[in-house]
Amino acid sequence: MSLQPDTFKSLVKAAAEQVIASALEVTALDQAIGDGDHGANMKRGFEAVLSKLDTIGAQPLDEALKSIGKTLVMTVGGASGPLYGSFFLAAGEALSHDRTLPENLADVFGRGVDAVSARGRSHAGEKTMLDVLVPVLETLKTEAGRPDLIERVRATASESMERTAPMQATKGRASFLGARSIGHIDPGAKSSCLMLHAICSRLEEGV
Ligand code: ADP
Ligand code: MG
Repeated sequence: MSLQPDTFKSLVKAAAEQVIASALEVTALDQAIGDGDHGANMKRGFEAVLSKLDTIGAQPLDEALKSIGKTLVMTVGGASGPLYGSFFLAAGEALSHDRTLPENLADVFGRGVDAVSARGRSHAGEKTMLDVLVPVLETLKTEAGRPDLIERVRATASESMERTAPMQATKGRASFLGARSIGHIDPGAKSSCLMLHAICSRLEEGV
């Protein structure tokens, strides 16, 4: 079994449309502890992905993920562009080396998470997107094969996103605020959660 091109396209489309539709909400979070551009940055990036979706969807899966990564690096900007870009580039690279989807999902997702961590010199607990990505990776590893895996991923994403609120940021722009970063959800944690939720919903609908 391997992920079919139409399924892949449908999942990317779902994530992109969710990010685009939530731009104002995400921007409001970045207005509280950053410079207020994360929603607009992500919207720009995923509009570019959507505009190329037919071309991307016709590529082999590893190349398709790398194309998404390159597009995000070129269009999102800010800190998050290179970080999300690295995620997709590394996930694509993992697929170029004998891994397949959905069989090696945790492994491929893990390569993406490692790339974010390396590029951002960051780890979970610093109030960033990694505070969603790392717990979701853990769920993918420990709960693989469970019939309710999609539900577990969805719950992990929202719970871990909510848990960024009481954290003090030690990476990215929000870290400049010190203790004043406490009490707000991290914008990147929110955008990661939105993409994961959109993918979970599309999978549940039976793409
Ligand atoms: P900028 O902060 O340059 O304006 P964005 O607003 O687009 O960039 O993205 C901000 C988000 O990027 C943060 O909410 C955080 O989740 C994520 N982020 C910033 N720095 C890092 C880092 N070093 N490691 C992981 N994620 C980071
Ligand atoms: Mg910003």
